[in-house]
Amino acid sequence: MRLLLLVVAMLVGFVAEAQDSLAMAKIDTLKRDTAVVEKPMPVRPVKTLGQVSAIDTLATESDKISIILFNDNTWRYVMSENYKADSEVFSDHWNTTATHAYSDVELNSLPEATPILLIDSMESYHYPYIGRITSRYGPRRGRAHQGLDISLKTGDPIYATFDGKVRFSKAAGNYGNLVIIRHNNGLETYYAHLSQRDVEVGDWVVAGQQIGLGGSTGRSTGPHLHYEVRYKGQSFDPERIIDFSSGNLRRAELLLKRRHFSIYAKYEQDFDAEVEVEKIEEAERKAAAAIQYHTVRSGDILGSIARKYGTTVTRICQLNGIKSTSILRIGQRLRVR
Ligand SMILES: [Zn+2]
Repeated sequence: MRLLLLVVAMLVGFVAEAQDSLAMAKIDTLKRDTAVVEKPMPVRPVKTLGQVSAIDTLATESDKISIILFNDNTWRYVMSENYKADSEVFSDHWNTTATHAYSDVELNSLPEATPILLIDSMESYHYPYIGRITSRYGPRRGRAHQGLDISLKTGDPIYATFDGKVRFSKAAGNYGNLVIIRHNNGLETYYAHLSQRDVEVGDWVVAGQQIGLGGSTGRSTGPHLHYEVRYKGQSFDPERIIDFSSGNLRRAELLLKRRHFSIYAKYEQDFDAEVEVEKIEEAERKAAAAIQYHTVRSGDILGSIARKYGTTVTRICQLNGIKSTSILRIGQRLRVR
């Protein structure tokens, strides 16, 4: 019972923490701490998981929550496998032989917007690979490039993005050696052209677990990772969630809009538009803050008011649509800036 209370307290506490991390744009690690199971510490970003691997899973008083121990004496909470196994996410359209499990789901049947939890105290993140993007999401030579390509050296380790279960792991035509992971939040990530696959269908994986090695199998002109993110079979630009130059997750929660599933909906363009709107709003705020008024008192004349505010009679007349010869009334409000 006490553990449960602590877990609840942690969940609450973490919301605030996640937002701090967001502000710092630094959510690049698993949330783990040293193994003192009797007295859980707040889980905070420490370091990249990389090669660290899970060595044991412990039950807690809650059947929903397990504790994973790692070989560097760290641990973290995860949703228990039994609990996840019962979830619809891992039974609905669970096809382990097809690259696309949701081919019968129409785009129009999806909601206008779907909130997707990316990380919290139970859900962790790790970049799949950090590197230079050589081909972005979007139309390419008359075809739809439904993921993005990151340049790598054959043999470089590739990591699971979030916790989840391997839905597909085998050679698949143009994809070459392909691993598809379905995550607790319903997203699927695709890792293609691998030179080696380290996970099999049905394996539960944690964020940061090595799932294979980069390569150039399938339709590929050189070693690279082709990486896709899909929801109910619909692809969207992976740059919406990951900054591939730093490996950082961009946000803790994603509001996935139906329009994002278009091959033309590049994150970069949305981002530029957002920045533009922010600039305009900022300018408007500044302009609004700069406006200043003066209330006319006995003895005020335009010349003295202008001097007081470091402006000119002409400017005050312009701002208020009056003439320099206009009679001022006591209590009249004049804009001076
Ligand atoms: Zn590609």
